[in-house]
Amino acid sequence: MGGGKIEEENWQLRKEIVRIAYERVPFYKKFYNERDFNPSMLTTPETWELVPILEKRFVRDNLEEMKDPSANPKFISYTQTGGSTGTPMRVYTDRRHLVEVQTWRAFGHWGISPADNEGIIHRRVPTTFVSKMKNRLLWWPTKRAYLNASSMSWEDVAKFVNDLKHKNIVWIQGYVGGLEMVADYMIKHNLKVDTLRMVWSTSAPLHDSVRMKMERAFGCKIMNQYGCNEMGNIAMQCPHCGDLHIEYDMAHIDIVDTKGHLLMDEEGDILLTHLRNRVAPLIKYRLGDRGVRLSRQCACGNPMPLMSPVKGRISDAVYTPSGVLITGEYLTAIFDKYALLFSQYQVKQWDDYSITVYVKAYKNDEITQAALKCIQSQLNKDTRGEMPVNIELTDYIKSNKGKIQYIISEVALKKYEVEK
Ligand SMILES: [Zn+2]
Repeated sequence: MGGGKIEEENWQLRKEIVRIAYERVPFYKKFYNERDFNPSMLTTPETWELVPILEKRFVRDNLEEMKDPSANPKFISYTQTGGSTGTPMRVYTDRRHLVEVQTWRAFGHWGISPADNEGIIHRRVPTTFVSKMKNRLLWWPTKRAYLNASSMSWEDVAKFVNDLKHKNIVWIQGYVGGLEMVADYMIKHNLKVDTLRMVWSTSAPLHDSVRMKMERAFGCKIMNQYGCNEMGNIAMQCPHCGDLHIEYDMAHIDIVDTKGHLLMDEEGDILLTHLRNRVAPLIKYRLGDRGVRLSRQCACGNPMPLMSPVKGRISDAVYTPSGVLITGEYLTAIFDKYALLFSQYQVKQWDDYSITVYVKAYKNDEITQAALKCIQSQLNKDTRGEMPVNIELTDYIKSNKGKIQYIISEVALKKYEVEK
């Protein structure tokens, strides 16, 4: 399978899902008509840019019209997403899209198969005798090691590590907190599990320091993936190059700038087109994350195109009233220059576009004051004087469950209604 063939298949599937959406789904008929778009305009891959972008709020406000009324009800399921912004949202899904099949295909590139022995760190594990027996039969002869992350003692961790060794566990999936505790234990007691080939941290993204510690402890790579509740996995990390292969025959990923133009090798908003949900299509659906699609082909032999690991969310950026976007990476870079002067900072953009920068400084001296003035004039320049920029020295910056959010933009949150 070459890159050209998978590209062609992806294009046919995109055209097909747009046609199905327009012909069968009331929302899309109206949505596309109002925006002067018609599926017949999709003549070449370049014309894909003409397809209107689907915002989360459109889906939330038109839930029932998003569904194909002629679809067989037994194919329709749903998933819940959001919630942290106060408006949980339901999305209809297609039961014919088998997430497990997709996952196992991607694991194949890591040399992992369903028959391999697995370690699981979960919040719910089989505890009663009957459920344990059922699970043993279901997965026989595959061996499994379990660790319940909802209440973990060091004895539990020790037993789990012992199980990993004695059951020849090949891969582990688990929550960051649980994985980190196991890694700490293994490093402290100088323990190794030679059979491990992959560790999947299911609540990405991971901080680099945590990732490095885990890789040292487990002696294998930590698999990074990109996904969402609406679809499941979208892209899985390549064990060779570290970037993510997009599941291109199931998901199409576009990266767009603020005007909706398609970008390659440049950072922008991520749009998802679910190629396998025919009961309630999601087409150019803005997920609320920012990422980069890569034009290079991977040398590993997997023909699926690449994207970089996803870092920031859209809410990590500030916007001016005229639509100029200032990314989180850029803002972070400004403050990185003054790391010796400031211990913490937070950029907050309010509903009315104004910006307040909270800075916790080591000292309030002339140098600090001069640095604050420099930052203020830089930000005034970047935002083209379109809104007020205030800088406040403070002793306390609010954290979210112990994690400082460097950039919080109410404008971005409102614009895309993304999850906080
Ligand atoms: Zn690859």
